[in-house]
Amino acid sequence: MKEAKKGKCEKCNNYFYVHEHHILPKGVFDKKGATVKLCPNCHSLS
Ligand SMILES: [Zn+2]
Repeated sequence: MKEAKKGKCEKCNNYFYVHEHHILPKGVFDKKGATVKLCPNCHSLS
């Protein structure tokens, strides 16, 4: 089970235990910007 970090969801702006969600293939961007932090609710919707 992956460790979840507490932070602000970038989609709904709720403060939550967020998961880093890869939005683009690795190599398209630098390491920063290739993921967004999403709460479990938004993560399951995307
Ligand atoms: Zn959310």
